[in-house]
Amino acid sequence: MITFEHVGKTYGDWTAIDDLSLHVAEGEFCVLIGPSGSGKTTTLKMINRLIEHDRGRILFEGAEIRSFAPEQLRRRMGYAIQSIGLFPHWTVEENIGAVPRLLGWPKSRIRDRVTELLGLLALEPERFRDRYPRHLSGGQQQRVGVARALAADPSVLLMDEPFGALDPVTRDTLQAEMLRIHKASGTTIVLVTHDIDEAIRLGSRIVILDGGRIVQSGTPRAILTKP
Ligand code: ADP
Ligand code: ADP
Repeated sequence: MITFEHVGKTYGDWTAIDDLSLHVAEGEFCVLIGPSGSGKTTTLKMINRLIEHDRGRILFEGAEIRSFAPEQLRRRMGYAIQSIGLFPHWTVEENIGAVPRLLGWPKSRIRDRVTELLGLLALEPERFRDRYPRHLSGGQQQRVGVARALAADPSVLLMDEPFGALDPVTRDTLQAEMLRIHKASGTTIVLVTHDIDEAIRLGSRIVILDGGRIVQSGTPRAILTKP
């Protein structure tokens, strides 16, 4: 689904990513983990071209990502981040429906999809669809952020510490919901975290980064049992 071949990224004279090769298979839940500054966010953002790589190749479904316009990639790849970034003047329904609207979905289809996603993320549709973000708790906003990323049935879901700022109970609930959604939809997911427990719980594969390089990659079991 996503392949990195000897990818590099340099900021000025700082090598953030060095000779990174990685294959994320369709349907995989791939977790990128590593200390702060290890290159996780850079790696994630190179997938949807929010950051351009400067060495090697990145392929999406077999084609160089540079052959896709950034807007085209971002419509096929959902993106959820810790700071959420909901539009404050848009209701929950308008926020979740943003990409489907761009894609020209009819209103009734968007409405049904919003209802479905709110239900999936344990937000009662009739209570929440017309609210504005400022009237939601942090955890509820985070759910809306995830729902927005999922709205147009993306083939890939990219998430950057989406549960980072949440209290443990809410985080636990959202992680469980993510696992359920992944199982049900089969969406390919790449998630960035610095939380090893989250990585082990969610990942079908864990990729450990340090200093812009992959130091280990494997199933949680393989990583935990490695001497
Ligand atoms: P992580 O997500 O693992 O914390 P990042 O991918 O954000 O790591 O950053 C990797 C390295 O690149 C860090 O050393 C960071 O300081 C540096 N870096 C990231 N973005 C920029 C930028 N826009 N300009 C200069 N250096 C950057
Ligand atoms: P207002 O009602 O205050 O004019 P809008 O609801 O139109 O605000 O938009 C809220 C914010 O979202 C604005 O900052 C606007 O620039 C931004 N925005 C509007 N449409 C899009 C879009 N399609 N993609 C990204 N940002 C958008």
